Amino acid sequence: MKWEGGRRSTNIEDRRGMSAGTIGGGGIGMLLLVLAVSCITGTNPLALLQIVEQAQPEQQTQSVPTGAPTGDPAAEFVAVVLADTEETWTRVFSAAGKRYQEPVLVLFEGSVRSACGGASAASGPFYCPSDQKVYLDLSFFRELDKRFGAAGDFAQAYVVAHEIGHHVQTLLGINRQVQEAQQSGGSRAGANALSVSLELQADCFAGVWGNHASKKSLLDEGDVEEGLSAAAAIGDDRLTGGRVSPESFTHGTSEQRVRWLKTGLQTGDINACDTFRSTTR
Ligand SMILES: [Zn+2]
Repeated sequence: MKWEGGRRSTNIEDRRGMSAGTIGGGGIGMLLLVLAVSCITGTNPLALLQIVEQAQPEQQTQSVPTGAPTGDPAAEFVAVVLADTEETWTRVFSAAGKRYQEPVLVLFEGSVRSACGGASAASGPFYCPSDQKVYLDLSFFRELDKRFGAAGDFAQAYVVAHEIGHHVQTLLGINRQVQEAQQSGGSRAGANALSVSLELQADCFAGVWGNHASKKSLLDEGDVEEGLSAAAAIGDDRLTGGRVSPESFTHGTSEQRVRWLKTGLQTGDINACDTFRSTTR
């Protein structure tokens, strides 16, 4: 990606080097929540959706976004990608007569507190709808490379854009609708299917951003393939070594994730991202 020299978002809260304090207050419930907040690595976000309503927002240290520190390439890269998502989504929203509220991205190390509870780096990057913040430990990018073999800056950008996709879903009220549908009863398999649709839509939204980025010639040759291989690498079936049953899918298969990221990339249109209605999800 051609990101150097790009505008850096100031909506970055750098909590690295800060202690998250004890992740306490909820016992086993909180532990479940910690397990649940995992977004991109594929632990079940369904539980999070159900618990989030009841979870009491934790005492937040009121930190003000300060932007990424200079001379820190990994953080600067994230700040440039975030800024670009801000521009893309502001444009998409205003074309629809809506206003895009920019989210804050929290950089953390080790463990972190969010309005959705505490989380550790092991659970991967996640978005918390209650405080509308994306939480990211940069070590996940090394993990992405080492464990999933998805190297490259566009693969990293895709991860950020996927989490931003969840923010877009929150602003559009899609998160809430899914949560209500899941709480109104129905089968576990049905609730899981909704979770998969939500995840695949976030992938598609990441693609919509990628489409706009490619129009601005931010992308290098091979970037799209890089994003697609990242999407393929973190499908639920890959993560569990192929031993999955459809009921336990929460993010979608590699094939589904690639297909929806591609849909967003090719169309650049959020209306093409109706993963809920699509019969060929
Ligand atoms: Zn997700």
